Amino acid sequence: EIRVSGLHKSFGSNEVLRGIDLEIGQGEVVCVIGPSGSGKSTLLRCVNLLEEPTRGQVFVGGTELTDPDVDIDAARRRIGMVFQQFNLFPHLTVTENLTLPQRRVLRRSKAEAAKAAAENLRRVGLAEKADAYPSSLSGGQQQRVAIARALAMGPAVMLFDEPTSALDPELVGDVLAVMRMLADEGMTMMVVTHEMTFAREVADRVVFMDGGVIVEDGAPEQVIGAPRHERTRHFLSRLL
Ligand code: ATP
Ligand code: MG
Repeated sequence: EIRVSGLHKSFGSNEVLRGIDLEIGQGEVVCVIGPSGSGKSTLLRCVNLLEEPTRGQVFVGGTELTDPDVDIDAARRRIGMVFQQFNLFPHLTVTENLTLPQRRVLRRSKAEAAKAAAENLRRVGLAEKADAYPSSLSGGQQQRVAIARALAMGPAVMLFDEPTSALDPELVGDVLAVMRMLADEGMTMMVVTHEMTFAREVADRVVFMDGGVIVEDGAPEQVIGAPRHERTRHFLSRLL
């Protein structure tokens, strides 16, 4: 469902991605781990072309996003993204935050958008917050709203960039529970995270990145439990 081939990305003379090859099958959950500056966010942003690759190809759902002739807006509609910061509109209610992109981007009717908003708020356990403003919600609730907003667009794949890193520790669990539910439902997911328990329990594969390359890619019990590379071992030992 997601395929990255020979991907390079430079910012000026700084080569941040140095040849990434990665495949994530339909319904697969892949967690990406690695030290700060290793290129995790850049890779995720290249997958939906928020960053333009310097070289290489990105396919999502059979469409090549790096094809210069592709309708990039149409292709991007199939990709949901959740960031560390929730980026909700503070002057809009929770429901309005969910309906606005559906109306603007998908041209859905008010009724259709409201229906998808209600359904997805229920999925993330926040039906009762439909009319609340983001500032009245906890960080964990705001992040669940951000996830519901992405889901309401009906994405084929979901990308997460450290979705729990900005949260107080006691709020992390609720967000991870929603992500676990999505994984169980068969959503194709690429998740940059430092949550090793989540990676171990939920991921089908774990990818360890360092210095703009994939050092190790395998089952969680292998990459986290019995890493083959010294760099992976060193990274994991510092997390404990
Ligand atoms: P972290 O764990 O801290 O989030 P990361 O693995 O996500 O790190 P990236 O954010 O992908 O790392 O950054 C990799 C490198 O690319 C860094 O050296 C960073 O300074 C550089 N970089 C990222 N975005 C840009 C940009 N827009 N312009 C210039 N350099 C950038
Ligand atoms: Mg990052």
